[in-house]
Amino acid sequence: MAEPYKIVVGLEVHVQLLTKTKLFCGCLNQFGLPPNTATCPVCLGLPGSLPVMNAEAFRLALKAALALNCHIASHPGHTPGFTKWDRKNYYYPDLPKNYQISQYDLPFSHDGWLDINVHADPKKGHTPKRVGIIRAHLEEDAGKNQHDESGRGGDTKVDLNRTGTPLLEIVSQPDMNTPEEAMAYLEEVRLMMRELGVSDCEMQEGSLRCDANVNVHVPDASEPKGYAATPLVEIKNLNSFRAVGRAIAYEAKRQFEEYQKNPKTYRIGNYLKTTAGWDDAKGRTEVQRHKEEAADYRYFPDPDLVPVVVTAEQLAAVKADLGELPQAQRQRLQTQYGLTAYDADVLTAKGRRTVAYFEAVAGALGDGKAAANRMSDLVYPALTERREEIDEFPFTAERFAAFLKGAPANSQDRRDVFTAMLADGLTLEEAKAKVGIKEVDEATLRAAAAAAVAANPKAVADFKSGKENAKNSIVGTVMKANKGAPNDVVRRLVDEELAKV
Ligand SMILES: [Zn+2]
Repeated sequence: MAEPYKIVVGLEVHVQLLTKTKLFCGCLNQFGLPPNTATCPVCLGLPGSLPVMNAEAFRLALKAALALNCHIASHPGHTPGFTKWDRKNYYYPDLPKNYQISQYDLPFSHDGWLDINVHADPKKGHTPKRVGIIRAHLEEDAGKNQHDESGRGGDTKVDLNRTGTPLLEIVSQPDMNTPEEAMAYLEEVRLMMRELGVSDCEMQEGSLRCDANVNVHVPDASEPKGYAATPLVEIKNLNSFRAVGRAIAYEAKRQFEEYQKNPKTYRIGNYLKTTAGWDDAKGRTEVQRHKEEAADYRYFPDPDLVPVVVTAEQLAAVKADLGELPQAQRQRLQTQYGLTAYDADVLTAKGRRTVAYFEAVAGALGDGKAAANRMSDLVYPALTERREEIDEFPFTAERFAAFLKGAPANSQDRRDVFTAMLADGLTLEEAKAKVGIKEVDEATLRAAAAAAVAANPKAVADFKSGKENAKNSIVGTVMKANKGAPNDVVRRLVDEELAKV
């Protein structure tokens, strides 16, 4: 049932870039190093040290922005491609410089969009939706405070390894209207960033972080727009895609209930934006503080860093390196291989290497649908069980295609043979022998069909009197004696033998 309000969500996503080194110094950008071993005077903010921009970080950020269909630093009154660095000033233990190098009014990219697929029903395909991107900018990350969570009042420790590592912040328009749309957007961003090699997007390790800006629109005919909007709440501490969905649903319902209590005053103009944390265990949001306005950060251009001007050549080079993006890939898989929207989506979500594997198998078989189905039946479950990536899998695409050409037609037999080949490293013939499948030529099968017809006069008589089903017992007799025989061939031969009686 539809809710009596419309949910309005915008997401701020931070992704850590997959560079070797930090954004403005040569320290390693690597998760899991011993605390405070990847630091230097620049990222520690020591006096006299000077930052130097990491060109690879900028290149990865450009890649992401182009994939998000953003304009690249197209700011009125400035040279095309002109972007600069700004200091965002605040004081916090994990920020030794007392300012963060970020981008304020002239971000390197802005005004883009991303098409997402919301899976309403796998059988029906998708509801396509376009989400606007306000801006994507680069900034340095802060360190990490490690609080004593035991409750025994131990010291808080600070690890500055993450200080100064490159972060891309992607700010969407408030274009999402359900928890599912927000999750689909995140999935698409993650898929794209991973496939482009921009970020590994591991939410558990913090290389993908998401804050959700949520409010609701409640129908109100007395309002010029026809609805009343509740105050904006930014939800933080979202540690999984599921948490994002749950938090949005919870917060929207909470705001609607608040509105019902105070319909005249609980409105967006009457409140500052607030920040709330999501408590996943309790399943609720907890208001933390009123959000600082931009003025509180006293932004100003960083005097230590020269502005960047992105050139047309640079953009062309990055563009040439993008490859096929997920949305285009889904479309192509449908038109080129006749896959359903759902199958194309499953395949694309598994990434480019799996798509390449599929295309090799589909090409060898001359049948895209069969290739997709057999990969779903056999390859994906095996990969999950063996905890392998597609390029570590003992079956290369060529070997898998060859297997399919010679494999039993019966799906259970096929799976048994495949499992035997995989587990024991057997050849197709060895695996068939192990599973008890004999190679049977058509002449043998015809003789078996003739014998079965001769041995079952009752079934034959029933069949001749119009009972179609009677044929099945004859086919079953032949199949039982010839494990692995192709069912369609046996049916045809039995038909032919029955016609002779
Ligand atoms: Zn450093």
